[in-house]
Amino acid sequence: MDPLTVPDESLAALERVAAQAQSYLADITDAPVRAAGSDEAAERFGGPLPDEGAGTLAAIEELLADGIDAHVRSAGPRFFHWVIGGSTPAALAADWVTSLLDQNAGGWDATPLGARLEQVAIDWLLDLFRLPASWSGVLTTGATTANFTGLVAARQWWGEQHAADVSATGLAGLPQMPVLSSGFIHVSALKALSMLGTGRENVVDCSGPDGSLDPAVLAQELRKAGPAVVIANAGEVNAGHFDPIREVLETAHAHDAWVHVDGAFGLFARISPRTAELAGGVELADSVISDGHKWLNVPYDCGFAFVRDAAYLRVPFAAGAAYLPEAQDERPVFGFMGPELSRRARSLAVWATLRAYGRDGYRAIVERCLDNAAHLARLVEEADDAELLLLAPLNIVFFRYRPADASEDELDELNLAIEQEILKDGRVYVGTTRWNGVVGFRPAFVNWRSTRADAALVLATVRELGARITAGSGVS
Ligand SMILES: *Cc1c(COP(=O)(O)O)cnc(C)c1O
Repeated sequence: MDPLTVPDESLAALERVAAQAQSYLADITDAPVRAAGSDEAAERFGGPLPDEGAGTLAAIEELLADGIDAHVRSAGPRFFHWVIGGSTPAALAADWVTSLLDQNAGGWDATPLGARLEQVAIDWLLDLFRLPASWSGVLTTGATTANFTGLVAARQWWGEQHAADVSATGLAGLPQMPVLSSGFIHVSALKALSMLGTGRENVVDCSGPDGSLDPAVLAQELRKAGPAVVIANAGEVNAGHFDPIREVLETAHAHDAWVHVDGAFGLFARISPRTAELAGGVELADSVISDGHKWLNVPYDCGFAFVRDAAYLRVPFAAGAAYLPEAQDERPVFGFMGPELSRRARSLAVWATLRAYGRDGYRAIVERCLDNAAHLARLVEEADDAELLLLAPLNIVFFRYRPADASEDELDELNLAIEQEILKDGRVYVGTTRWNGVVGFRPAFVNWRSTRADAALVLATVRELGARITAGSGVS
């Protein structure tokens, strides 16, 4: 079936999706996070490439029927695994507009709309995070590509310290680029170092006993290193801890170092006066990144990379060509400031959600998440069969099920067994981690919809399933 030769059913298909959205959103607070049979539903897709297509409406019908069964309601209020945000109403609608308009947000000729909204979005985000208005930035697919983007900028700077333009002549003949960080470094930063030719195994660990960056160790290593790149972590994924950012920055800048801050969700601490000091000093960094699809609650995918000096993005990410006339544009050309040339207009959703809810709305979202985390931590402390493993500095609570009669050496296995049952149970979605040698749950609060009752349900579910497992009765 050639879409050109059959009646255009675009509108009917969109209406079908809008009708589904109506019931989907009506159910999202109560429906199970993951329904039984989701893997089987996913398997129902497949078979050979059809010679003759099924048609627009049939394909969309099939996508909705098996797709709803196969998906995970990660945008809903009871999803606390990893760090996954939902979509605010304005962001969701703007994302639909993004597909409707189908803009290539590489430059101004291709889309004044996408380019202008990205310029505005970057300015507003800098303001929201209280970063200097003179900084520049670019939207990316997420924090992994944002880390990559910031570290490419860092490498460009580092090359200059060796009188080399790495973007032009590469790394040959240069020494290994020293990268220093702590035990809090995220795997995505290591992945970025793998992509950069630095190597993920070449990070100098400057952590103190608690895993955070120790400024004294950092100073010692920087004295040996010469020009170096420091990765400071604002929000570590296991328990939400922070490197001492301000001290790290003061130490690093007393030496010859570029400081990159990974604030994929931790940068949002700066939005509330209650937590701002956790990420205090970030405004002194050289590159800073965060995620859109986590705490900003815009749909996948979206991240941001900010730099103090735009030249460190413009030089390595330049891609001028005769048929791309915009390299000389005075305005930022976002296709020349990050890894992608052709790119989705992610700015529409970012602009719309900031326009809709503003600084106060985001402060409310962040503080509600902080309150949910604090509420859960308090309930854990009150429970006689649960143990709070670490105080929650931000939005992640690290705790485990611990019945009075259980011995220490069976607790890891017990909590891992509860995790398996929780993912099958579907009322809440939460995972475990191993931190300081101990297995515990680490619910992360970033979804704008989550309530105190949702937070309480995490503990209630863990206790209920834990009791069932320890009683050895009827665990399916
Ligand atoms: C989630 C996360 C990342 C990676 O982000 P993606 O959006 O998954 O690419 C990087 N750093 C930290 C601290 C994170 O929490």
